Amino acid sequence: MGEKNRSKGKFVFWADLVAESAIEHAKRNGMSIVTVKSGGSPSGGKHIGNMNDQIRAFFIYDAVVRKGIPARLIYTNDDMDPLRTIPPSAPDGDGEWHSFTQEELSTLEKYLGWPYCRIPDVFGCHKSWSEHFNSVIRDGLSRIGISMENYNNSDSYANGGFLEITKFTLSKVDQVRGVLSRYQKTLEKDWIPFHAICENCGKITTTAISFNLEDDTVEYECRGRILAGKYVIKGCGHKGVSTFKEGKLPWRIEWVAQWKIFQVNAEPFGKDHYEGSWKSGQALAREIYGIEPPANLVYEFFLVNGEKMSSRKGNAYIIQDLLKVLEPEVVKYLYTKRPMMQRNIDLKNLHLLVEEFDRFEESFFKKSSEEAERIYPVLMGGIPNKKPLRINYLLASYLVQFYPVEEAYNSLVRAGIIGEGISEDDRNRVLLRLRLAKNWLSTFADSSKYVLKREFSKVDLNDVKKALKDLSERLSSLTEFKGEAIQNIIYSTARENNIPAPEFFRKLYLIFLGLESGPRLGYLLATLGREKVISRLETAIGEAG
Ligand SMILES: [Zn+2]
Ligand SMILES: [Zn+2]
Repeated sequence: MGEKNRSKGKFVFWADLVAESAIEHAKRNGMSIVTVKSGGSPSGGKHIGNMNDQIRAFFIYDAVVRKGIPARLIYTNDDMDPLRTIPPSAPDGDGEWHSFTQEELSTLEKYLGWPYCRIPDVFGCHKSWSEHFNSVIRDGLSRIGISMENYNNSDSYANGGFLEITKFTLSKVDQVRGVLSRYQKTLEKDWIPFHAICENCGKITTTAISFNLEDDTVEYECRGRILAGKYVIKGCGHKGVSTFKEGKLPWRIEWVAQWKIFQVNAEPFGKDHYEGSWKSGQALAREIYGIEPPANLVYEFFLVNGEKMSSRKGNAYIIQDLLKVLEPEVVKYLYTKRPMMQRNIDLKNLHLLVEEFDRFEESFFKKSSEEAERIYPVLMGGIPNKKPLRINYLLASYLVQFYPVEEAYNSLVRAGIIGEGISEDDRNRVLLRLRLAKNWLSTFADSSKYVLKREFSKVDLNDVKKALKDLSERLSSLTEFKGEAIQNIIYSTARENNIPAPEFFRKLYLIFLGLESGPRLGYLLATLGREKVISRLETAIGEAG
């Protein structure tokens, strides 16, 4: 499945393919509305790789709607899942990362094995751990224009939403075991697929010993479990009785139960699920529950700076982090790319991604790309009346090193890069990009590359001294100090002095930026203003001796 041609030359968006399968799935099963689902446990800060789930689901949902079919986008907050491990840091209610103190860590320790919905919010701003992190996820999404119907698993169990399917599952316990044992070699012969919450210690890592379908109860023993093959949760040894509303089905079964309960027609998931729970899920769906598994989309994870993200390594970023350096539409753009390609987000060179987006936008307005024609309106939440004004991200990042944001904006007006009568939207967009670029410089940018040095680096200027003098004179007498005119003067000065233009530009970049290259020089100099430029050139001529 991919963006590439299905029929020759014609661009096909992956979301359209999944949408078509979802629509077919709904038709075959007599459903009049297409449901696209994603889900996740509120285990802490959900990094931008995990967010493939929700955002790819959004693109599928949107594709269904664009085909004129009624659809819903739902999210199951899997908050009955147990806390497996305590992350060393997590985002607070505003999405700002916070490293847990020793004291907080030891307070949290006692909640290992508890369902997220019952753990208090460490930050104190929500009712529970689950609500806190679910709200951080939803907040990040809403800031890029995505909202989903939210269903907390804890509510679905408590209000009886899962009751019927739990009873059904237990009534077929032998068959369920039979199917699952094909996929899980370690499954015990008397295994009962239900985890009650221990009334003594609060953990949901109990083992069911027997169940009663007459009064909907399960007898359990708090034995503890090893979660995800490596997190050892100890039990308290308590034996008790619980109703089917105070516990949960094991994940592999719960996932299928959600498909049935919510009538799910499509769901994206990471490739880690593909080999495991997706395989057993399909078999359970068909052989036990008599439903057809939803259309799926498998995605690859993101790398950041070439590495896997992990809050343990301190390199996990959430949507809120990206929104400090990228516009919402650029963040969304990241998730439109082919799902099965492992994508590396190179934070040091983030300007390249923004430039790619700017070209993508440009191609939409030039009507030169089918891909942009299909995807760009989704990123913008509609088609803008005219092409939004963007200034080059790298240029923005240089300017904010010379000027505060507002002044940088004025310098762009002075340089003729942006007109004076621009719309309020365009003005805000330019100001936003200046602020984003400024944040990028102070967080991710490679300071040896993009942060200007105040002193001249060791540049040999002897061979260009005469040309620099000429340039300085001509720029002094230039009527309008504007980008295009300056650019032309640099070229002609190089030519008249018999200096190859690339070499002259390189020296000028070294003089102004301390770098071998940069954004279009004429425009950069125009934004700096005549006075700064002449004075820098004079200093350079002086240095040349
Ligand atoms: Zn909170
Ligand atoms: Zn217990």
